[in-house]
Amino acid sequence: MPPTLFTPPYSLSRRRLLHGASAAGLSLAAAPSFGAQENAAQDWDIIIVGGGTAGIPAGIFAAQRNAKVLIIEASQQLGGTLFLSTGQMSAAGTQLQAAKGIADTPQMHFDDVMRISKKTADPALVKLAVFNAAETFDWLTANGLQPLPEHPVLGLAHEPYSAKRYAWGEEGGISILDVIEPLALAEVNAGRLVIQRATRVRELLQRDGAVVGVRAEDEHGTMADFRAKSVLMTSGGYAMNPKVFYDLSGVKAYGAASYPYSQGDGHLMILGVGGYTRGKENYICGSPRVLAEATDPSPPYVRVSMYPERRPPWEIQVNVHGKRYVAEDNPSVDQRELALVAQPDFRTWLIFDQAIFDAAPPVVDGWDRARMAEEFNAHPMFKKAGTLAELAALAGVDEAGLQATVARYNQAVASGKDSEFQRQHMPLPIAQAPFYSIRQNGISVTSTVGVGVDDKLRVTRKDGRVIPGLYAAGEILGSGQLMGKSAVGGMMVTPALTFGRLLGQSMVPIKS
Ligand SMILES: Cc1cc2nc3c(=O)[nH]c(=O)nc-3n(C[C@H](O)[C@H](O)[C@H](O)COP(=O)(O)OP(=O)(O)OC[C@H]3O[C@@H](n4cnc5c(N)ncnc54)[C@H](O)[C@@H]3O)c2cc1C
Repeated sequence: MPPTLFTPPYSLSRRRLLHGASAAGLSLAAAPSFGAQENAAQDWDIIIVGGGTAGIPAGIFAAQRNAKVLIIEASQQLGGTLFLSTGQMSAAGTQLQAAKGIADTPQMHFDDVMRISKKTADPALVKLAVFNAAETFDWLTANGLQPLPEHPVLGLAHEPYSAKRYAWGEEGGISILDVIEPLALAEVNAGRLVIQRATRVRELLQRDGAVVGVRAEDEHGTMADFRAKSVLMTSGGYAMNPKVFYDLSGVKAYGAASYPYSQGDGHLMILGVGGYTRGKENYICGSPRVLAEATDPSPPYVRVSMYPERRPPWEIQVNVHGKRYVAEDNPSVDQRELALVAQPDFRTWLIFDQAIFDAAPPVVDGWDRARMAEEFNAHPMFKKAGTLAELAALAGVDEAGLQATVARYNQAVASGKDSEFQRQHMPLPIAQAPFYSIRQNGISVTSTVGVGVDDKLRVTRKDGRVIPGLYAAGEILGSGQLMGKSAVGGMMVTPALTFGRLLGQSMVPIKS
């Protein structure tokens, strides 16, 4: 059962919240505390909907410019997806790169994103992100973010960049939160920023076509209206809302691995005031995961090693028809992911036999053979059978297809040539009973479809007309815009932080 929208989803979150506060020399109790009604009675310069990756920097920078800023956050804590994110960032022209003698430019970063995404990413948003990324990254490191010692690197788990510009801290997203949360709390303590927690924005208020505030519901179900000159939507994605996921992207959500508050509230509210969504055609699922349950959507259970550079594959991968669909050792993660997204239900089965079980390094990260053997007796995604026919029936793949595929693969092993897919690493045939299968699904941790904005991040209608008073930043813009139909390293976290920063620095005139 997912947590309710008003309960902190992870005990870790609370610990981190307190840690962030104490790192800033603050106690939360010392921060000015207002009830929803008091906050509703005031006029704000900016209301920020969602205190996560994009919302926190927006709040910090706007507050530093003496704007009157209110962050309204649905959960009890700041942080959003940073609690779960790997926190991998990409930025070109950073001080870290300079210190390590790495030559890189935002233009090279831009060219790489467009190359990796095969020009499916939105050039204007990518440009805005990468030409401002270094300043964001340098701001984080200046305030204490410590990238891993060997960073930046070319890439990990995604298609590599052409220069070393990919970096993250030891605790991923938490390392970022540990830097930005104290900065936000310092603004709260200085009286320049107010955070209204456990309050879920439900509606955008309009006057004469302009957005002039929000209607929000607190944890007791009480509604209040909050008025502002500008509203910034940083409410994240929709990956935890199966209905919105399907309605917006046209595909089912198979995994539930994102932040529980990623419910698509912002998308729906923006559609409600005349905005539009885009990027459906860029849907792509990530590398496959073993899910906990057979019902959709399911949380992930365990990760199988699907990266040939770390563990060359001994098994084959088949779809529901029992057919292989890619060279399992294709070095391009992008090509492997695009092959998976073309399979029914983005589902794939690893197939192997006893000889492979005995000879290969265990395929599940962190498990030994004894643990593997246990799972084949118990877990619904792990099947074992005396014959390929029985295995096909148990696993739910086509029997004739599987028999034919294994026969063809065994011929390829014998001849040393995989004429179908040109796989290179084929150490053993699949011939010795019992036979094994592990079912996996390609799942999405981010939301492909986003709301339409212009190059100043103002929300627009489909015809390009700006909806006055309304801005958006972060995942609400859609992974399909910043990464296109591809997974491009660091192109969600860094743009979210960067766009939040840029809007915080520009949304309202500076007051002296
Ligand atoms: C497991 C995982 C790993 C990832 N790893 C990476 C990575 O390594 N690199 C990368 O670039 N990207 C990564 N991503 C994606 C990236 O982390 C997110 O896209 C990004 O953090 C989203 O930032 P955001 O500010 O848009 O949303 P969030 O950080 O989720 O913030 C949104 C906030 O809005 C709040 N909210 C929602 N609805 C409402 C409402 N109605 N009213 C008020 N508040 C509301 C939420 O509670 C939340 O605090 C990963 C994502 C996941 C899930």
